[in-house]
Amino acid sequence: MYDTTTDNVITSIEKRKTEFEKKRIVLTFDDGPSRVLDQILDCLLAEDVQAAFFWQSKLLHYKRPWKRVIEEGHVIGTHTCKHPNLVRMTRQQQLQELRFSKEKIERITGAEVNYFRPPFGQYNSDTIKVANKLQLTTVMWRVASLDWELKDNPDKIMSYVLDNLEDGAIILLHELRQTVNVLPDLIKEIKKNGYDLTLFDF
Ligand SMILES: [Zn+2]
Repeated sequence: MYDTTTDNVITSIEKRKTEFEKKRIVLTFDDGPSRVLDQILDCLLAEDVQAAFFWQSKLLHYKRPWKRVIEEGHVIGTHTCKHPNLVRMTRQQQLQELRFSKEKIERITGAEVNYFRPPFGQYNSDTIKVANKLQLTTVMWRVASLDWELKDNPDKIMSYVLDNLEDGAIILLHELRQTVNVLPDLIKEIKKNGYDLTLFDF
């Protein structure tokens, strides 16, 4: 049904079923919770859009606006605790990293964590075994905005995403200043191209 392998790794969501439905994409934000989270949330609220946030649990303090994220309908997933390259770790180390991170986010927010994105998009068969053991769906992406490289060239964030839009695509963004700056226009353009911005719906 989804672009899902038996390993429970996804790069996209279900495409529209009939020509009367709108095409859909999912926005995802990695590497928070950051200082610009409130601004991202303001923008998503203004545009009535839900997104997924993959957080490094070491950055999650009680004073970050995690309550807003949940109340406004977004999803929080784990991006590990300290952002290691998991393929350089043993299965046991990967299990500890992921379990600690999932449990910390759940402890602070009270929300169950069901999704995981590997740092640098790097994973191996041990990662998948560990993610499955922890009942985490591994969420990769179809379109990378390259926003982390484009601090001085934010227009390119727009074009990388808009030029590669396709039905069902999961889009990779980050909680960065340059991303915040283009986000309102980016969302408006995605909508103009005939897409709904939605969430994973399992
Ligand atoms: Zn990351």
